[in-house]
Amino acid sequence: MTVTENLRQIQKQVLQLAQGRPVTMLAVSKGQSAAVIRDAWAAGQKAFGESYLQEALEKQAQLRDLALEWHFIGPVQSNKTRAIAQHFHWVHGVTRLKIAGRLSEARQEAGLPPLNVCLQVNLSGESSKAGVAPEDVAVLAAGVAGLPGLRLRGLMTLPEATPDVALQRHRFAALRELQSALNERGYGLDTLSMGMSQDFVSAIAEGSTIVRVGTAIFGERQKTS
Ligand SMILES: *Cc1c(COP(=O)(O)O)cnc(C)c1O
Repeated sequence: MTVTENLRQIQKQVLQLAQGRPVTMLAVSKGQSAAVIRDAWAAGQKAFGESYLQEALEKQAQLRDLALEWHFIGPVQSNKTRAIAQHFHWVHGVTRLKIAGRLSEARQEAGLPPLNVCLQVNLSGESSKAGVAPEDVAVLAAGVAGLPGLRLRGLMTLPEATPDVALQRHRFAALRELQSALNERGYGLDTLSMGMSQDFVSAIAEGSTIVRVGTAIFGERQKTS
């Protein structure tokens, strides 16, 4: 199947699963060429997710003629906050207030409207996984919500890969419940960034508003950093 066919098919599936709720499909293009992104754009895809700054900047430069929406979904290193704040519309992996503060400052210095951010939550407690612990989300949210250069949109998670649908749903439900708890305190969060190629069906069933789909659209990616 071609990228265009995959996009159509997954977009259709997302639409059916969403049952009238708005769910955005982010095309995760890390490890894919600018030419492939251009093909996806021609097929109607506007939002793209990248994990590695240098790779993303190179492709953005080649795609400058297109009005694309860029989402940074990788780990945010503190020496890269300036470039990330200037070259992306969204950052999904905010895990520390210090990093958030740097993104906010850089965004303001660049004179850009507030950067959309999600807090990444580590639900499985795996030490190898990035993310704030569920019990620390409220404190981080309070800090981030006060930063003028950022707009706190919601929560993101990257759970352990598992074919166990019950476990997938358990994790995604936990993220939704954390969001509800924050919204009871008045945060007005509208985003749950959860679900990838393997588990987006479960994620949408549990309320996902952004699914991040890579290999199911583009096939295997080339290894990057
Ligand atoms: C790579 C990546 C994805 C996409 O994964 P696929 O399994 O290829 O769909 C989604 N989210 C994050 C944070 C990623 O790093």
